[in-house]
Amino acid sequence: MQEDLKLFHEISEKLIKNESKKGVVEPISPEKLYEKLDLHLNENGLDDNKFESLLEDVVLSTPRTSTKLFFNQLFGGRNSRASLGELLAVMLNNSMYTYKVGGPQVGIEKAIIQKVCDMLNFGENADGTFPPGGSMSNFMAMLMARDAYNRQIKYDGMSEKMIIYTSEASHYSITKNATFGGIGIDQIRRIEIDNHGRMSPEALHKQIETDIQKGFKPFFVNATAGTTVLGAFDDIEAIHKITEKYDNIWLHVDGAYCGSVMFSETYKSLIKGVQNADSFCFNAHKMLNVPLSCSIIVTKNKQDLRHSFACDANYLYQTDGDDFNLGKTSLQCGRRNDALKFWTLWKSVGTKGLGEMVDQQFFLAETARNYIKNHPDYQLYSYKDSISICFNYKNIDPKDLCNSLYKDAELMVGYGEFNGETFVRLVSINSNNEDKDILNFFNVMEKYVEENHDQLSKV
Ligand SMILES: *Cc1c(COP(=O)(O)O)cnc(C)c1O
Repeated sequence: MQEDLKLFHEISEKLIKNESKKGVVEPISPEKLYEKLDLHLNENGLDDNKFESLLEDVVLSTPRTSTKLFFNQLFGGRNSRASLGELLAVMLNNSMYTYKVGGPQVGIEKAIIQKVCDMLNFGENADGTFPPGGSMSNFMAMLMARDAYNRQIKYDGMSEKMIIYTSEASHYSITKNATFGGIGIDQIRRIEIDNHGRMSPEALHKQIETDIQKGFKPFFVNATAGTTVLGAFDDIEAIHKITEKYDNIWLHVDGAYCGSVMFSETYKSLIKGVQNADSFCFNAHKMLNVPLSCSIIVTKNKQDLRHSFACDANYLYQTDGDDFNLGKTSLQCGRRNDALKFWTLWKSVGTKGLGEMVDQQFFLAETARNYIKNHPDYQLYSYKDSISICFNYKNIDPKDLCNSLYKDAELMVGYGEFNGETFVRLVSINSNNEDKDILNFFNVMEKYVEENHDQLSKV
């Protein structure tokens, strides 16, 4: 192991050095990939020298997500303390299903969940877990809602048309999850949004009433804190005023993108009313810059988590109580330790430090929006209180611009669509960045457009 740790150190040093020299790697096309890199597997192993140099090649030709030129979707940067936690989690290699195997790591996961529940004012009976990402957090919420609606479903299966409500701008995992959960895609009502991308509470109310009259069974409303394209926040208070009129409707808040505003004194008002939700999730691997993946879901009543996810297995659960055997509340069986990397960060910067990371991202977004507003060649499509900055530059086709910047290894940035408009979507999610890094983004892009103006498609 010592030898490989040395190798790890060497390759990491080279990577960091290379990152600072060149923020974007030349992409290898999928057709050329296996020619350029010896990725196929053989009967015999490689000798040490060849193995080491191949591994280095692979690392150095992989897209760089931690640099100051990476503005692609929804994560970025390298937080040193969080990465340290991740590396140690790999060394320890625990599985988080039992206290016997996880020990203090289980205590760490529970401490994070507890603190998050407290900060959200979720009450005495709240609990949560670390699912394998935001999509799966949303899935767990939907399953708890389904099973809370009818405790028999987990035995009998579904026998009614149960209805999901989510906004037109919500994440596609809601669609996938409706299939996984046996609800069905046709049972999703996509509620209209206002021009800022927020769900219309009036339209939600009307739709629920219509469905009840038709004999359908509304059971799940998904509100989004930070929509994937515009970064908009649904009005949780207004939505809750509607869901509370009905006994059986579960309110989930999908904060995968921007739920981490809960850590900021300045921006936590964007999720005002979250204490009334039945469940809430956020991805620490997005706004908190923890390595992928690190997602947390919490729910008001731990019985809901237990009812949907606990199963007995005497080959697994042999010591300690259910409270410390976290497999009783998780989607999977063997489960990697996603808690330690978040804890190493949180413990070292404090809750205040997490809030500052969030604030920095909004500051960078403000910087970008001001730049755009002050330059007549730009058109802005997104709004304040969002870390997605959506814009077009001159008459350049945003798709071609983003794809060309990637192919020519200049910048990593993606495009998005809203209300029939397509635009470049810059995300200011890397809190290691400073305002000069945002201005550099515009510099690099403008220079590129100037030099390649004739080749770029126009709209
Ligand atoms: C990113 C995102 C998700 C999905 O999270 P994953 O960890 O990528 O599965 C869900 N909802 C929203 C709003 C997101 O932005």
